[in-house]
Amino acid sequence: MNLLLYGAPGSGKGTQADMLRSRFGIPHIATGDMLRAEITAGSELGRKVQPILAVGGYVPDPIMIGIVQNRLQQPDCARGFIIDGFPRTVPQAEALDELMRKLGRRFDRVLYLKVETEELLRRLSGRLVCPACQRTYPPGKQKCPVDSTSLVQREDDKREAVKPRIEIYLEKTIPVLDYYGREGLVSEIDGRGTIEEISQKVMAALPLSPPLKGRSAGPAERSRPGAGVKQPPAARKE
Ligand code: ADP
Repeated sequence: MNLLLYGAPGSGKGTQADMLRSRFGIPHIATGDMLRAEITAGSELGRKVQPILAVGGYVPDPIMIGIVQNRLQQPDCARGFIIDGFPRTVPQAEALDELMRKLGRRFDRVLYLKVETEELLRRLSGRLVCPACQRTYPPGKQKCPVDSTSLVQREDDKREAVKPRIEIYLEKTIPVLDYYGREGLVSEIDGRGTIEEISQKVMAALPLSPPLKGRSAGPAERSRPGAGVKQPPAARKE
């Protein structure tokens, strides 16, 4: 199962990606998590992208394309993957198409979790994240209930970065959905409701018999967002 998952910041796509990862046993490739792992590791790439993420901008296409090209050729992607956060621009989509052709694979579905902007702003303001496991929580808690790490605010969840993130998403990423829409691949899912209700809608949107080419099934595999960085399962990531 090769899936692309779309949703604005705060749409709940991380949560649904995690559900899909455990149901299908395929890795969840979240480009935002990969970049944050590079920043935490203090790598050259991390130092380069940190100021971009801090203001909610987009990392240049050539960098992102390189990262995803490497990631999709890792052995754990052989049976399929869920890509979350890429492609975010039309040039990224074109580069991914070319890579998929080279790999002899195709997408089974492009899922778009749609949530109104007002609701996104409400969900993101005050959201806290566990720096260890990346789970996110509404305001109120101080420690992660799973691993007791002190919760922090994600740098780009701060007020000044949230609005630009939503705006750039609407400007650059919605055209990518039109791009896949022309191929009849997009399922738009109403992102309101409980996590379980949304998960049911996501499952219902998937093809029952995925085409043989690129089809996958297999044991659960862990997501691998960044070299040398351990990625625990995420219960709620947006
Ligand atoms: P969000 O919650 O905003 O969807 P992500 O965790 O997916 O957050 O991404 C965080 C940030 O990482 C983005 O705001 C952007 O700066 C950068 N980023 C992630 N994926 C891409 C991409 N495909 N192209 C450009 N920038 C990206």
